Amino acid sequence: MFSLYTETPSFFNDICEEIRLFLPEEKHILKLDDKNQMNAGTVLRHFFWRDETGWRNRAEYYDAGKKIAVLEERPEFADDKKEPVDITAGTLLAKKLKKHTVKQLIYRIMRDVHQKEMPWGSLTGIRPTKLFRELSNRRGKGEAHKIFVDHYRVSEAKTQLAETICRVQEPFLKDVGGEDIDIYIGIPFCISRCKYCSFISRDLTFNETIKDQYLPRLFYELDALKEVMDQYRIRALYIGGGTPTALEPHDLEQVLKKAGGLFSQHMEFTVEAGRPDTVTEEKLHILKEYGVERISINAQTTNDSTLKLIGRRHTASEFERAFALAKKVGFQSINTDIILGLPREDVGDVEKTLKDIMVFSPGNVTVHTLAIKQSSAFAEERQNDLPGAETVSEMVEFAQEFLSQKGYLPYYLYRQKYMSGNLENVGFALPGQECIYNIDIMEETVSNLAFGAGAISKRLFTEKNLIERAPNVKDLKNYIDRTEEMADRKKKLF
Ligand code: SF4
Repeated sequence: MFSLYTETPSFFNDICEEIRLFLPEEKHILKLDDKNQMNAGTVLRHFFWRDETGWRNRAEYYDAGKKIAVLEERPEFADDKKEPVDITAGTLLAKKLKKHTVKQLIYRIMRDVHQKEMPWGSLTGIRPTKLFRELSNRRGKGEAHKIFVDHYRVSEAKTQLAETICRVQEPFLKDVGGEDIDIYIGIPFCISRCKYCSFISRDLTFNETIKDQYLPRLFYELDALKEVMDQYRIRALYIGGGTPTALEPHDLEQVLKKAGGLFSQHMEFTVEAGRPDTVTEEKLHILKEYGVERISINAQTTNDSTLKLIGRRHTASEFERAFALAKKVGFQSINTDIILGLPREDVGDVEKTLKDIMVFSPGNVTVHTLAIKQSSAFAEERQNDLPGAETVSEMVEFAQEFLSQKGYLPYYLYRQKYMSGNLENVGFALPGQECIYNIDIMEETVSNLAFGAGAISKRLFTEKNLIERAPNVKDLKNYIDRTEEMADRKKKLF
């Protein structure tokens, strides 16, 4: 068991995140209120105080009662202009500087004890590229690079990746303003549940009735915000889920008709057709008819034995059939997702998958690293046949190299909790095939109006450097009963 005592209790969770970078299995870290309490197992004590010479930041690491490492420093706090900052002032900057100092110390003691660096160093957030851009804007690219490597201890390779992504994104973000908005519509249904799935999506086979109640409420929510939407310039509309193409043709058409009818402007229009076993010629024609330009048909892997293990009810040849069909119907912009770190796979399997999908020259390839969330079936089953962190890291390197040799550039990135090897998910695109919605949502550069159960709307207040959120309830029944309230939340926010 891992126990933690800290004199900065408001950062308890932040400290736990640093600990879990090295010990991902420590889901429940015990909070100690007494610095003298020395539990069996591992104890980390963190002290933060001020004496006549200034601030002190100290960490002590104990294993079975034996002190095995100590780190102490005298931190100084300054802003971008190197002006001293009073961290007792209660300002946002004061709090941020104090938190960073504490996290860096904990990262360093964990690194010393466990004798390894993490690929993203002490960074635990899901948007490292957003951080890189903000640093570049404030301090210049060179300084941002230096801060990533020296201060956050991000590896040179990951720092370069973040830098490349920010460069690729530049033309898409340069004209963005407060009048721009993206729209998300969630269809939380699939035709079965993948074992790694942690989304709220329901299996349609058993939830036809709830689907019949859900769609009219979704349409109500869209109608209720029509006036708000009319005040903005819509950059991108994204219908995701779940798998929207899990819907029967008639329902799919209703959704597209409703969504398309609300917006007169031209915008990027994407629909997830993620599960190849939901893709039919009829549905593809409906998507085309309503102006959808981009779709996603996801392979995940082209090894049938792995597909079975992860609960995808399709084969590699079904993926090939769906992709070929989408091309025949005329879709030029097709994304395919793959997942690295799947059970019983090695680098050779990843190579096979990449070569197989290259036959279709997808416009985008999104490379995910498996993350086992607690709400997924995998978390229950406690998979013990997963490749180790080192192998997953090799897979990631291999995939990034492979795709760059084929002319793909990384253009958005995000990280999740519980990812194999603390790595990342990266979207690659052939030049000109980048998905604006993905950039906007990951970089939080445009406000987002989001509809459907579990969808989270965000409004950006650029001048105040602030983002405010209006989340919809996740539970489908709750959403159906409380749609008016969800719509009102958005109206208030916008
Ligand atoms: S296709 Fe996606 S949303 Fe549907 S069950 Fe699989 S992981 Fe979950």
